[in-house]
Amino acid sequence: MEKGAVRSEVDKAREKICLLKPCIVFGVGGGVNIDIAKASAFLEGSGWITVPTIFATDAMTGINATFRGEERGVDGKAHVGDYDVAVGPPLACIVDTDIVKAAPWRFQAAGFADYIAKLCAIEDWNLAYLRGEDHIYSEYAITLARAQVEYLMRNASRIREKENAFNAFLKAMMNDGFLTQMAGTSRILFGSEHMVAEGLMEEHVLGKLRSLHGELVGLGTILMAYLQGQDWVVVKKALEEVGAPVTAERIGLSDGDLIRALTAARRINESWLRNRPDIYTILMERILTEESAKAMAKETGVIKS
Ligand SMILES: [Zn+2]
Repeated sequence: MEKGAVRSEVDKAREKICLLKPCIVFGVGGGVNIDIAKASAFLEGSGWITVPTIFATDAMTGINATFRGEERGVDGKAHVGDYDVAVGPPLACIVDTDIVKAAPWRFQAAGFADYIAKLCAIEDWNLAYLRGEDHIYSEYAITLARAQVEYLMRNASRIREKENAFNAFLKAMMNDGFLTQMAGTSRILFGSEHMVAEGLMEEHVLGKLRSLHGELVGLGTILMAYLQGQDWVVVKKALEEVGAPVTAERIGLSDGDLIRALTAARRINESWLRNRPDIYTILMERILTEESAKAMAKETGVIKS
């Protein structure tokens, strides 16, 4: 996949499906390959089976496929930022744990960070429900998600080396599709921390650096846990233990880039709200000025000066 998760790659895969008429499409590899396989199979009316070789995202069982913003997206509409196509669950997900274990650890550490983002997403979802902005709510799904996140954070230092903790990590990641269906909304997967990550991604595009999605989300989770008044220290410690970045410097961004991303996060939230009025988060209530963003980033140690 030369261009990543964009419409042209889905079109190429759709042409092949049209020609070969398979009854099942296999999505093999990382999140981008899997999302392209999911969307193209869905649009062509085929079933799909996912075969993740890394666990950097939860794409393998996720019921949405995520794409980069484009003038004309996979769904035919214009999108400024990332957007989802609702495709439903795969027929099956096949994992060779030896292959995942042999992949560079950076991918799995990023997947861990993307997973524990639920801590902030749940808090934002609670807020939206409380304010009457979101009418869907599942205490059951929230309880399950929180238990999984807490288990993973507690075992962060053991995931890489200990078989049972590693397997629990894989299972938690593969549970996401189930969890979304339980919740009845994808809100359980992302909130303000993903908006901060999108801001960080914009800074990257300008500087032409590349980080993994989960690495950006990890920083977003530390910062938004702080803003929400949650225990951000535990989040940061878990990310450090698993080997995910916890500073702007580690993902190749300057202090200024990080502060710009934070002050842009509310604008990003507003743009998401245009398509999904339910995605109301803490960013709509706590305005981040340059000054308050800097103070937060310093306090959490995400920037130094
Ligand atoms: Zn994510």
